[in-house]
Amino acid sequence: MSVFEHAMPLNIRLLKSKVSKPAINGTLIAILAVMVANVAVCYAENHVLTIAGLIEAQKSNIALWFLNLMPFSFAVWGQYVSNIVAQEADTMIIDHTHELWDKTRELRKQVKMESQIDQLTGLPNRDHFKQLLRAIINRSRQDKTNFTVMVLSINTIQEVNDILGYNQGDELIKHTGDILKKNLPDSISLSRISGSEFAAIIPYQKQSNYIQGIRDEIFKVLAQPFAVDNLTLILKTSMGIATYPQDGSNPETLLRHAYIASFVSRKTEVPFTIYSPNIDVKQFSDLHQIAELVNAMDKNEFFLQYQPKLEADGVVREVEVLVRWMHPDHGMIPPDKFIPIIEKNNMTKELLQWVMSHALHQIAHWKAQGIDLAVAINLSALDLLDSSLPETIAIILKETGVDSSHLKLEITETTIMTDHERAMNVLKKISDMKIQTSIDDFGTGYSSLAYLSLLPAIEVKIDRSFVMDMIDNKHNSVIVKAIIDLAHNLSMKAVAEGVETQEVMDSLKELGCDYQQGYYISRPLDASALIEWLQNRDK
Ligand code: C2E
Ligand code: MG
Ligand code: MG
Repeated sequence: MSVFEHAMPLNIRLLKSKVSKPAINGTLIAILAVMVANVAVCYAENHVLTIAGLIEAQKSNIALWFLNLMPFSFAVWGQYVSNIVAQEADTMIIDHTHELWDKTRELRKQVKMESQIDQLTGLPNRDHFKQLLRAIINRSRQDKTNFTVMVLSINTIQEVNDILGYNQGDELIKHTGDILKKNLPDSISLSRISGSEFAAIIPYQKQSNYIQGIRDEIFKVLAQPFAVDNLTLILKTSMGIATYPQDGSNPETLLRHAYIASFVSRKTEVPFTIYSPNIDVKQFSDLHQIAELVNAMDKNEFFLQYQPKLEADGVVREVEVLVRWMHPDHGMIPPDKFIPIIEKNNMTKELLQWVMSHALHQIAHWKAQGIDLAVAINLSALDLLDSSLPETIAIILKETGVDSSHLKLEITETTIMTDHERAMNVLKKISDMKIQTSIDDFGTGYSSLAYLSLLPAIEVKIDRSFVMDMIDNKHNSVIVKAIIDLAHNLSMKAVAEGVETQEVMDSLKELGCDYQQGYYISRPLDASALIEWLQNRDK
């Protein structure tokens, strides 16, 4: 019974008693009035008040009989009316209560539905999919039948998000959901289980080629070109297939195996993969590395090294911060090995926050010890496309108390070229915050020189591939000289990285290079080793 239904009789009783009270009071007043009338008539007739006189007054005065009857008539009438009023109120309250109860039930149903439905496609979401999977596992266990789970990943989504924007990415997902819904039989439960992944439960069918038919149908309908923003796209997908019970007897295992199969299909660039326990995920995989990378930040397996940037006057005022991963089994992993995985999995923001926060805390710590150093931090290609970057940096600067003049950001040409307009907007905000930028690995990208003059950057770092062998390779020494001159003509500073010998160092000095960085000066060092290095130099 509902909460409302419990409360109902009490409400009615209260209401009835409320209605009855004035009726009883009215009756009492009427009885009092009748008694006064009887006494008045008796006194008027006999000039004295006796019981016999009262009886005599009743006998001789018929009007008193009517008067005596009136309170009782009113009492009966009052009770009757109060009962009717209470009954009507009773019905009203019951109706209203039921109405409220129905509405509550409906709202609860709606909230439950909404929490189980993906808003973009209107399909069940991952939680709901698992419930459906659990239900069909129970049924299949009883019926001793099997069924198939398919995971379909849209590989194109990242490109669409990056190049056309998230709205168009959403369009693409919605379009895929709609097409699948329209073309798959009703017996197949379709869900959207993550950003770019759909999953389907295909119940057991007698025809041996049923699954193959469904698979082909999916590929056929998704092969139709799709227009977004005047561009015609063709979806690239990868599919993984797992079967109950051999590939898993619970929703989690079954889904994981279908997901692994889709992952392998993406890596091997085949349209679909059927799960088999023999699949060695590690051979394709950065999958387990991704999981490890996520944990690495929490477990503090990352650490920072600092490489000095030597100025032409022989003083070190700035260090470049370089991240490393100390893997518990594989030892130190250089950034070139794991940053591409981080970039591919959209985790660059987390990395940048980690690096920036640790590096700026270090700068603040050194400052407290009387060591005044600025830091240059490398950005990944995706970082400059994140419009919240300036705000993120502002928060970390505030938290560490480091002045923005002590922070430089190293960006590459590729970073700026990916989405030039977006990157420029973010760069403009960063430059408004008085944070300097430097163009890293200059000469290896494909940016137009025209862009260089538009950038708010204050320095150009000549890629180490030109610097390292500039003594023996005349072409490279010409390139180095050209970049130094170009930088100076644009009122920028020139930095050479990859200085490995005294000859290179001398040659760069002659060419008027403003900063030098490289193993000959110092390898990247841990924080304490860097301070030791600086102190030894002073001596
Ligand atoms: P980069 O920014 O160009 O960094 C300079 C790289 O050159 C570093 O490699 C450094 O150790 C190396 N190096 C310095 N002097 C010499 C030298 O004299 N000779 C040679 N052969 N190499 C030298 P590392 O630390 O392996 O970093 C590689 C790249 O990884 C960096 O190139 C940078 O693009 C990226 N990276 C490093 N740390 C971070 C980070 O915190 N965030 C991001 N997004 N990228 C990072
Ligand atoms: Mg750099
Ligand atoms: Mg570089």
